[in-house]
Amino acid sequence: MNEKEKRIRNTLKTREGRSNALNALKGLLGNTNAKKEFKMSKFECSKYHSSCKAMCCGIVPIPRVVGQKKQHAIQRPVREEFKGQATSKTDPSIMETFILPRTDDNYCPFLKKDLSCAIYEDRPDICKKFGDESHPLMCCPMQHKDGEPRKGEIEDGQKS
Ligand code: SF4
Ligand code: SF4
Repeated sequence: MNEKEKRIRNTLKTREGRSNALNALKGLLGNTNAKKEFKMSKFECSKYHSSCKAMCCGIVPIPRVVGQKKQHAIQRPVREEFKGQATSKTDPSIMETFILPRTDDNYCPFLKKDLSCAIYEDRPDICKKFGDESHPLMCCPMQHKDGEPRKGEIEDGQKS
């Protein structure tokens, strides 16, 4: 386990760490108002998969109800599973429960071998919105939100 993995593991082990991580992610979602525009863009992942290896599909909070419903779609063993709660972005009086599954390679358990998502229709909002550039942490390293390659980035092993 390298230093980065140790830091992730230690953060997720404390209730405060999980709560902070989840609320930061919910904050990112709350700041997102470009969903409609983003859905209409030419943003595509498959053409970059040979380079990016779906690096954005790491330890992602999955709503507990989705995790329970989609057990059959798990692609790699979950070694540890942390639970956390965060306030609902639509109703702050509601606490939503998430699971943070950790796997041996720190990829999301629902990522398939071909780097597609095994729960695509039910994937979390943060997955749907990743790449919409509503926050620096929501930027894809490979392409802009309109699908244009980032300057100097590699597409299908070639310089763009
Ligand atoms: S959002 Fe970016 S990093 Fe994630 S799979 Fe798509 S191209 Fe790759
Ligand atoms: S739920 Fe799907 S899109 Fe989201 S991180 Fe997991 S594999 Fe990637």
